[in-house]
Amino acid sequence: MRTITKAVGYRYRIYPNMAQRVALSQLFGCVRYVYNWGLSRCKAHYRRTGKNISSYDLSKELTHHKREPDKLWLNDVLRMPLRVSLFHLDEAYKNFFEKRANKPKFKKKTNNQKATITYQYFSIKNNKLNINKIPGLLKIRWSRYWSANAQVKALTVSKDVSGRYFVSFRVYEKIVQLQPLGAKIGIDMGSTHFLATSEGEKVPNPRCFVKKLKKYRRLCRAFYRKKQGSKNREKARLKKAKLSVKIADCHRDFQHKLSTRLIRENQAIGLENLYVKSMLQHRYLSKSIAAASWSSFFALLKYKGDWYGRHVVTPDNKDRPLPNIKICSVCGYILDDLPPHIRTWTCPKCKRHHDRDVNAAINIRNHTVGETGL
Ligand SMILES: [Zn+2]
Repeated sequence: MRTITKAVGYRYRIYPNMAQRVALSQLFGCVRYVYNWGLSRCKAHYRRTGKNISSYDLSKELTHHKREPDKLWLNDVLRMPLRVSLFHLDEAYKNFFEKRANKPKFKKKTNNQKATITYQYFSIKNNKLNINKIPGLLKIRWSRYWSANAQVKALTVSKDVSGRYFVSFRVYEKIVQLQPLGAKIGIDMGSTHFLATSEGEKVPNPRCFVKKLKKYRRLCRAFYRKKQGSKNREKARLKKAKLSVKIADCHRDFQHKLSTRLIRENQAIGLENLYVKSMLQHRYLSKSIAAASWSSFFALLKYKGDWYGRHVVTPDNKDRPLPNIKICSVCGYILDDLPPHIRTWTCPKCKRHHDRDVNAAINIRNHTVGETGL
């Protein structure tokens, strides 16, 4: 069986003490400052010249910037995470120019905070984590271990919007690919459910998610009613943030399990064009939430497919998008219209009865990974 070496992320909760929190918040603050400084430098440079600054040039500029008398505090933290922050800015611009992401934005203190540190600057002692310039040892809850032959390359320490701290280790690990199979499926992302497959399976949205989302909407309304800058608004923000990370956790867990199962069971998986899909109305979720959760699910399928030797195929953006939902998967007849509330229909030409979503998934399979052969 073929083995490959891949970068894998291992994420754990950490419990910093007071002094460690202070040091971490200083580190996050510097990382955020440097990112925002880099972003405004890029913007100004672009306005003047119509060109970008490379992260290499920005890094050199930063060295001088840190010597300015009122910026000496930037020297109190590790240098590496500041440089990585500029590298992340570079990536954000690349993703923007290649139309994979929105324009980079300034980072706010109330958002997720993070800092990336390479392996030279941390170590594990007595099952606890030591990071240079952070006092003492950090307590970690080890939920799982990487394999013995793995190499740890970097870690990202983060604080989420609800005030929890995490570390995520980037580990290079040998992965054994799965035995090849014949099964091929297409996947249609749902509105009333999470997805439908061409095999007729419908996976519902996770229950915890649907239930909490209702509560989340209520908390959002409460938040916007509070006066800006008031203590009550901050309290409402924290409440909203705590629930939002719970929803995200629940969804991440669900997506991981589902993507692993689909990759194990199938040799090839055909996906739809999300850009076209996101144009459609969504019943439970706002369009942006649905699009974000779909694209993160696709990303999981793609990298797991890559790890385990499976094919995950998306239609070429250059091709004209197909109205998968309106095509009969048996005879190819195209309906003029199929309103969202019609869940099943009968083809006027070949008289086959279709489930709306399963029929779409079959079309997606046929147009991406083909119908026959391996
Ligand atoms: Zn038909």
